[in-house]
Amino acid sequence: MTPVETSAREAGDPHDVQGLPPLPASLQARLADCHTLPSLPAAVAKVLMVARRTDASLFEYAAAIEADPALTLRLLALANSVFYARHRGEANSCREAVSRIGLDATLAAVMSFGLSPSGRAEGLDLDAIWQRAIIAALAARHLADRLCPEHAGTLFTIALLQDIGILAAEALDGDAYTALIRATDSHDALCQAERERYGCDHARLGAWLAVSWGVPQHLASGIAESHGELEATSPDMLCLRLSGQIADGWLTQTPGRAFGRLIRRLETRQELSLAAFEEILDELQAQLPSMAELLEITRPPQRDSHELLAEAKRHLFMQTLTLGARLDAHQVELEALRERYAELERSSRLDPLTGLANRAWLEQQLEERFHHSREHGKSLAVVFIDLDHFKQLNDRHGHQLGDRVLANFAASLQKMVREGDLAGRYGGEEFLVILPDERVAGAEAMARRLAERLASHPMAEVDGAPLHVSVSIGIACLGDTDFRNARELIDAADQGMYQAKRNGRGGAQRFTPRA
Ligand code: GH3
Ligand code: MG
Ligand code: MG
Repeated sequence: MTPVETSAREAGDPHDVQGLPPLPASLQARLADCHTLPSLPAAVAKVLMVARRTDASLFEYAAAIEADPALTLRLLALANSVFYARHRGEANSCREAVSRIGLDATLAAVMSFGLSPSGRAEGLDLDAIWQRAIIAALAARHLADRLCPEHAGTLFTIALLQDIGILAAEALDGDAYTALIRATDSHDALCQAERERYGCDHARLGAWLAVSWGVPQHLASGIAESHGELEATSPDMLCLRLSGQIADGWLTQTPGRAFGRLIRRLETRQELSLAAFEEILDELQAQLPSMAELLEITRPPQRDSHELLAEAKRHLFMQTLTLGARLDAHQVELEALRERYAELERSSRLDPLTGLANRAWLEQQLEERFHHSREHGKSLAVVFIDLDHFKQLNDRHGHQLGDRVLANFAASLQKMVREGDLAGRYGGEEFLVILPDERVAGAEAMARRLAERLASHPMAEVDGAPLHVSVSIGIACLGDTDFRNARELIDAADQGMYQAKRNGRGGAQRFTPRA
């Protein structure tokens, strides 16, 4: 390859792509110092000079190409390849070839003839780079035929040239760059690593190189944007970016998995059906061998579109299964957490010694029920129970026995209450029962039954002898007296209980407001 001085460097600001932020300054300085950047053969550079003029005609293209017989032969071969087989008859002249292929694609073909493997860049696998390039170029063209036919030629060109930045990066950084390629396991990962090392990826660098050669700006900016997300892009950008990913999938050892991932990524885009995708892969397979031959590179592996997509779907299905299994495991975990939470919540409401509602829960429940009863004009009774002479019991028989008595008493109390009632431990040896819809008479009946049970059932045994306890009970009832809040209701029941103590213990006393 003969290095040529493309006149691009003298023209305006040749080192960058219009409309894009400039390359990082450090990189610009290194590029300016680099004398081994890839260049184009003189014949190709002449074609490029024509291409840079917006008013360039087909004649002028053809004339520039005809100046180089080798270039002419290869362009004719391309024009007559299966790729352009839909045209009848053979293209016999350069003009016919250019008109058949289109201006942009002619340029791409001429450039790729000038750049394709020729021993330079020892560290790079140029064969692999150009395999990727032709798969991408063909894929871009066939995608564009369906999504944006007016851009088909341009997209072919941009896709073909999208990785020329790799050549520039290798010229610039040598072994360090080839090490970077070896250390990354995908094209995306390579771009990421490049951005970290150079401040831009090879697509952006490729655009810079293209401009320095004199490639028209619209093609250069296409190269700069050729790598990236598929979502939320215009149809032409989708064709371009997808083309590189199709090429990567095509060339990987596990194409089924790669195409599975690609199909998943494409799910958000409605424009391209799976059937159309399969057709495109078919067309690709049909044209790849002759394209590879034209560029004198190894044929990319043969792929059967139908098998490939079936395999891709299998991978997607397996992935969905794995996701499903993971989801199931999460659900089991969630269920366990819910149970644990419910258990914690339950235990936070209970008194550990007796298993009855604790004071906080009693107060909260009474508060709610009090308001409910007042609102609906219903009655609500509260029974306050205090064990008699409990301190004495503890002193005589020990604290442990006292505990046992409290637990047994709680169990007895729980048996007395009906569904909808709530019995709880209010404090040390004090208990409270909330009786919704109950008046004083009902509460008194309950108190009687409790006293009877205590008389007939001992709460413990001491040295083989039964130990009975008695309780003093206070009763207050919303409906008999108009309490303003739950606190007043409890206090009233408490007062009743003290009255019962004063009356000699072991009995029940209703609250009577002082006149
Ligand atoms: P009164 O008939 O006037 O109610 O006399 P009392 O001795 O029952 O009342 P006082 O308030 O003087 O004493 C209550 C006793 O209850 C004192 C305390 O040690 C005991 N007590 C409180 N909580 C517990 C407990 O959890 N376990 C045991 N064993 N005793 C407790
Ligand atoms: Mg007490
Ligand atoms: Mg007591």
